[in-house]
Amino acid sequence: MTSIDKKTDTCPSHKDLKDMDKAGLAALMESLGEKPFRARQLYDWIFHKGVSSIAEMTDLALSLRERLTEEGYHLSTSELIQEHTSSDGSMKLVLGFNDGEQAECVLIPDDNRLTLCISSQSGCALGCEFCVTGLTGLGTGGNIGRNLTLSELIGQVRTGEALVRKGLFAGHITITNIVLMGMGEPLLNLDNVIKFIGVLTDQGGMGYAARRVTLSTAGIAPAIKELGSAMTGVNLAVSLNAATDEMRDWLMPINKKYPLKQLILALREYPLKKRRRITIEYVLIKGINDTDKDAKRLARLLRYVECMINLIPFNPFPCTDFERPEDSEVVRFQHLLLEEGYTAYIRASRGPDIGAACGQLGAKRRD
Ligand code: SAH
Ligand code: SF4
Repeated sequence: MTSIDKKTDTCPSHKDLKDMDKAGLAALMESLGEKPFRARQLYDWIFHKGVSSIAEMTDLALSLRERLTEEGYHLSTSELIQEHTSSDGSMKLVLGFNDGEQAECVLIPDDNRLTLCISSQSGCALGCEFCVTGLTGLGTGGNIGRNLTLSELIGQVRTGEALVRKGLFAGHITITNIVLMGMGEPLLNLDNVIKFIGVLTDQGGMGYAARRVTLSTAGIAPAIKELGSAMTGVNLAVSLNAATDEMRDWLMPINKKYPLKQLILALREYPLKKRRRITIEYVLIKGINDTDKDAKRLARLLRYVECMINLIPFNPFPCTDFERPEDSEVVRFQHLLLEEGYTAYIRASRGPDIGAACGQLGAKRRD
């Protein structure tokens, strides 16, 4: 395994009950000589009711509550250390974890939806040329960076939900959509991410509809296959950003390991539910990947992929030579794809003034 996609070990507390999914809780109860229904009770309290302490689990035998507490079992909480509100209404949250690592997530209100964009790692090791998170890497600011644990993934949703309950987003009473499009590469944290999706979309757990959850990947082809086999029902988005290996090798170095041929094959074989399509994300960078030729190549490359295309005009940041194309150029690129028969949207990123737009998370660490 090369350093570029080396899996970083998470450091979950083995006594954090929020790091245990259904199977984990069942194994714990068995090891303590408890009946299986105790695991179901714990699961219900932790993931469905969302309590923050063992003491609140009132229908759990007092002796078991005491034993768990004495043996050091607990429910961790993520600390909200900063909130930044954008002039466009979106809000970036910075969460701090036990070992000093941080991750950012963003609440994005729209007319009829409230989307939470969450991080899967603190930083990202993949080093895409156009992304601040990637340029930050997994190791700056004295922190090593790592995969986020199940508990930390859930913590982002719980923190977001608490702010929504406070009424900070007028007209919104609940988070409607969750996207794994924040810091990090979710498919390099596959075990925790699959457990997280399980708990998140379980109607006896956190209760979100799988069709309202989207996972975005830089294209880890074998892990796309694994995700497909897990039949999670969530939407898949892929950051393509280039239509030739030469360009993609440069913009997204992970392409050297999983080149386009392998990636496109994984997308073609990905099991999709009826009327669902893969979302292809394509960041448009002026003079780099936004020519007519690029649009034609992209159309050809995606010929046999059941997909729609989201065009994201590049969000600039300090110390980059990349520029955002003119709006007219973005529309021209979109029209070329429409002419080829694709569904293609232009996606404006939200929260650029607070460093919350696509690819801007983690910029403070870089400072
Ligand atoms: N690592 C995953 C999840 C992060 S999603 C992935 O790359 O898919 C982050 C999205 O923001 C990706 O689609 C990426 O292409 C896009 N992005 C990154 N930097 C950007 C920038 N400077 N401007 C616009 N979009 C950017
Ligand atoms: Fe990592 Fe995705 Fe940013 Fe690339 S675009 S550096 S994979 S977060």
